[in-house]
Amino acid sequence: MPQTRIDFPIDALTRPHSEEEIQRKLAQERARLASMMGLDSGPVHHFRRPVERPFSAEERGKVTILFGGLTWKHERVIQAVFQGCGYRCEIMPVPNVSAFQLGKEYGNNGQCNPTYFTVGNLVQHLQFLESQGQTKQEIIDNYIFFTAGSCGPCRFGMYEAEYRLALQNAGFDGFRVLLFQQNDGVKAASGEAGLKFTVDFGLGMFNALNLGDIMNEMVYRIRPYEVEKGRTDQVWQMSMDTICTMLRDRKPFEDHEDLPEWMAKKIRANKGKKWEIWVNSLLKVREQLYGNPYKEALASVRGQLNTIEVDRLKVKPVVKIIGEFWAQITEGDGNFHMFEFLEREGAQVLVEPIGTWVMYMMYQVKARAAARRSLDAPHKHPQWYELQKKAVNELKFRQKQMLLTIGERIYARQYQRVVQGLGNIAHDLVDQKEMADMANPFYNQFARGGEGHLEVGKNVYYTKNQLCHMVLALKPFGCMPSSQSDGVQSAVANHFKEMIFLPIETSGEGEINAHSRVQMALGEAKVKARMEFDQALKATGKRLDEIKDYVAEHPELRNVFYPVPHRHGYAGIAANFVLHVSDLMNGKKKLARVPAPVRKLEATPAFGD
Ligand code: SF4
Repeated sequence: MPQTRIDFPIDALTRPHSEEEIQRKLAQERARLASMMGLDSGPVHHFRRPVERPFSAEERGKVTILFGGLTWKHERVIQAVFQGCGYRCEIMPVPNVSAFQLGKEYGNNGQCNPTYFTVGNLVQHLQFLESQGQTKQEIIDNYIFFTAGSCGPCRFGMYEAEYRLALQNAGFDGFRVLLFQQNDGVKAASGEAGLKFTVDFGLGMFNALNLGDIMNEMVYRIRPYEVEKGRTDQVWQMSMDTICTMLRDRKPFEDHEDLPEWMAKKIRANKGKKWEIWVNSLLKVREQLYGNPYKEALASVRGQLNTIEVDRLKVKPVVKIIGEFWAQITEGDGNFHMFEFLEREGAQVLVEPIGTWVMYMMYQVKARAAARRSLDAPHKHPQWYELQKKAVNELKFRQKQMLLTIGERIYARQYQRVVQGLGNIAHDLVDQKEMADMANPFYNQFARGGEGHLEVGKNVYYTKNQLCHMVLALKPFGCMPSSQSDGVQSAVANHFKEMIFLPIETSGEGEINAHSRVQMALGEAKVKARMEFDQALKATGKRLDEIKDYVAEHPELRNVFYPVPHRHGYAGIAANFVLHVSDLMNGKKKLARVPAPVRKLEATPAFGD
């Protein structure tokens, strides 16, 4: 067999290669390859996070805080709290397709859909301000953007950088972005002297969030059944005005002014002492949550809602919305105006409150602390006889769990109080442990990012408890956690044969396609709702006319606050309503007491009209 000869260049074997020589050759080769690929167009400029000017307390009177990205109900109450605490505040418009395109133009490639929409929306709004006659410098000096941020693990962690990059690219270099961090919100927000996290501000925001959530859920529960078209929207504007006026104009509690004079005198003499600050803060909490202005505002909203007449005999499929945080909450192009579309198509939409996500965050911290119990213990691996160390470990763990449980309970209870204060139309927050247990066979609760296991948990929860006819998941294109959930949802759907589940990828394009897919699934859900109603009616042994006559004679049953009990196995309002009316007619139940009755009911329109 002929031998293969390898020829080495003499100097390669003999001449010693210095490190500099190697680096020089490497650079030469890199330049040659870059030039070959057309990548040698100039020096590379990496994006660097700009050093930001702080938002100072002196600027409070002239700088306007911009924010947005939620529903108009949430945004209005949040704005009212900002204004009530002495800030100038403006709500940004709902992001639209042209904002999405601007986001693509000025931001990085490969972002997820909400990034494009929200980043582009900010740029678009600043460009609008410029078109109104303000210079770029005036806008940079007189406005700041307030938004949520996170460290990930999904692209939520990139939002801050994306905002800054897009602002720089659009010529608004130096525009300030204030972040409310997902994990350490209070610290981050109060880090800027201009935005001060006081007791009044914090509790005002807490109330605002609850009110926004509950008013948002209620409007979707009532509007599909209104008798007079447009009445609900009209009343909602009025009611949101009432709530916002209260949040903006209520006088903050001050111990030295609002306590009886004999106490106020003592307080004035001790103003600024530690105990006085504590007393004042606790009384502020009490006043914010239980004070008369709050109760009176809720009462007057109840009075306004009481003027809406509803017809619960309209058979409507109940569609539960789940999905990514932003896609399931926005009411615009960001989710193809999906809620409006569903209502137009004759559905009742069950929206998700932000409160669920807040509870999820608290639950996750608690569950994580339990899972890391031995890792985070102050004494690692104590021996069996080191009883004191074991006791310290146990105490620390229980202390943390207890504090988190108290936090969860307070949040859930306060939410429930507002639900009750507004007439018990909205639902209480779902127990997170139950949700995690339901998701657990399919999705690990410690897989973080976006809504984590919530999408799967909600799908199982609403289907298993028969609270809806169809689940619609709105997931933005390019969303990592939602893609994971959707992969899992096919296993979930196989498990629950009765489930109608449809995932829709939201984007800046493809609205018609998305609507037509929803229409197809909704067709099935309508059939399901109609069959359920027919079955309920049959179970009563009565004719629909008899039920209608009874309802016509009892105006309480057309009252928006009338409590219709939920029967297991029936998701639709109409099905539950006929069963209840039948019980009333049979004398098995008594009519519930409600506020003043409403006018006479007219003919019941056909399915979904
Ligand atoms: S959850 Fe999805 S859409 Fe939302 S920020 Fe993360 S990757 Fe983007």
